[in-house]
Amino acid sequence: MATVGIVGLGLIGGSLGLDLRSRGFQVYGVSRQERTCRIAVERGIADEAGLSLELLALADIVFICTPIAAIAPTLKQLIPYLSPETVVTDVGSVKTPIVQECSQLWDYFVGSHPMAGTAEQGVEAAQKELFVNAAYVLTPIETTPAIATQKIEEIATLLGSKIYTCSPEQHDRAVAWISHLPVMVSAALIDVCIGETDATVLELAQQLASSGFRDTSRVGGGNPELGVMMAQYNRENLLRSLFQYRDRLDRLIQYIEQEDCDRLNSVLESTQRSRPNFLT
Ligand code: NAP
Repeated sequence: MATVGIVGLGLIGGSLGLDLRSRGFQVYGVSRQERTCRIAVERGIADEAGLSLELLALADIVFICTPIAAIAPTLKQLIPYLSPETVVTDVGSVKTPIVQECSQLWDYFVGSHPMAGTAEQGVEAAQKELFVNAAYVLTPIETTPAIATQKIEEIATLLGSKIYTCSPEQHDRAVAWISHLPVMVSAALIDVCIGETDATVLELAQQLASSGFRDTSRVGGGNPELGVMMAQYNRENLLRSLFQYRDRLDRLIQYIEQEDCDRLNSVLESTQRSRPNFLT
């Protein structure tokens, strides 16, 4: 079995470590804090973990699982320790800027994005089998060696994920719709609810909130750092989606103001019909 290195032992890096070790890989982990490395070894996320990237010198494949802003800088620092054919991938939620920069730095780099997560963060949030049945998107470009893509695909398959391959640009445009826009919409929902000025009503709303609010507020109540990075690194796609969302919201407001139940009903019928297409 190949030896795997993981940089950034948080929710995604830690979950990868748990699953890769349970599938027989030797896992070396590197993180920023000593405490995280200690917990990673205690929890069985890594066979060995430490603060120095030198620990990854023997890795055949390295997963960079740091926050988006640290991915390319981490690769730069890692390069002196890598063997020439080590395959490096990242798990960042945005692909175009990362793939552009990292592919220039390292020939055997392939961008990827396992589309699984929870609202938690850090090494404590790592969980087993997080990637089962989740999409695992690979974003090779023209210059990416086929062997690099193939190795990550093999590992993602072992994790139980469904593999999708597309360009970094297509990935970023698609995830703006189904991942980054929902974070902002859900955040706006929580934000407007906590703006209720009658303290009694606010408290009542908090007590009454149930499955509908849980579903619609989940992604807006997640890791703020991740949301900010989506906005910074996928800015244009996210803005385009948000503007179109605002138009749709204005249209719904108009139908309700005009008591145009026919038009409102036809939108809701269309959304009811279409939702399963996103969830199969
Ligand atoms: P996370 O739980 O906060 O984990 C990130 C870890 O990276 C932290 O525990 C931190 O370790 C470590 N770290 C930060 N800067 C570092 C550096 N310069 N060098 C080494 N380690 C560093 O975040 P996450 O949710 O796993 O997200 C990690 C990546 O996965 C991001 O790129 C994100 O876009 C992507 N992603 C997230 C999700 C999701 O739903 N959360 C889903 C798919 C992909 P210490 O504890 O040692 O400080």
